[in-house]
Amino acid sequence: MPLRTPVVAGNWKMHLGRAPARDLVTALRDALGGLRGVEVVLCPPAPWLADAHDLLAGSPLHLGAQHVYWEPHGAFTGEVSAAMLAGIVQYVIIGHSERRHRFGERDEDTARKLRAVLELGMQPMLAIGELREQREAGETVTVLRRQLLAAWEGLERLPARSIIAYEPVWAIGTGLTATPAMAQDACAHVRAIVEERFDAATAETCRVLYGGSVTADNVATLAAEPDIDGVLVGGASLDAAAFTAICHAVAAAKGA
Ligand code: PEP
Repeated sequence: MPLRTPVVAGNWKMHLGRAPARDLVTALRDALGGLRGVEVVLCPPAPWLADAHDLLAGSPLHLGAQHVYWEPHGAFTGEVSAAMLAGIVQYVIIGHSERRHRFGERDEDTARKLRAVLELGMQPMLAIGELREQREAGETVTVLRRQLLAAWEGLERLPARSIIAYEPVWAIGTGLTATPAMAQDACAHVRAIVEERFDAATAETCRVLYGGSVTADNVATLAAEPDIDGVLVGGASLDAAAFTAICHAVAAAKGA
């Protein structure tokens, strides 16, 4: 078994009605069920998670949630707790830039969410990334370090094979992609910060993904970089053929 199994995760965001969502899960289940060596994670909108869970029974594809609240239950209208997701999903996206920048999610919120998800045995996919002006000011690594350390506040250890997604905000949904060299540099810094904060073994097994306008055309060169262990895909994850091609390209780049 390789040190780090690559991951391809599809973040469907707030797209697709129930029937098209069921169709997409079914198409991906059929197209990717035989793919080995890559963990494929589908993250549909919350109302379709139960459908997706049932459709994926017996399939190697995994399910992820896009959002979670840290309290287990209570008067929190509209929120979904980790306890409600456990048993349905294996992964939860935390700290996505749309949550941070459109919904005001703070660094300390990511810490609470991360702990709630870990306590219930699910895998967080912690998303971090700099704004364009932060990159232009040379602050990228400082921002990534701040977001990571804040999310890990109070955490003694990070489980092996954890997932962190480096997603430069300026590349999300814009059609602008970080160059493979830029993405590799940031992902290597992320791994170094994991080692600094935890230890070398945790850093070696931690999966660092790149996200930001990944397509079937640009994924191969990104996935060929040594510190990029897969991709988090938004727009292109809504197209069965494109997402299937991305999964195969990552498998090929990583020799899976
Ligand atoms: C995302 O939503 O995490 C993302 C990377 O979106 P896109 O691929 O559309 O840029």
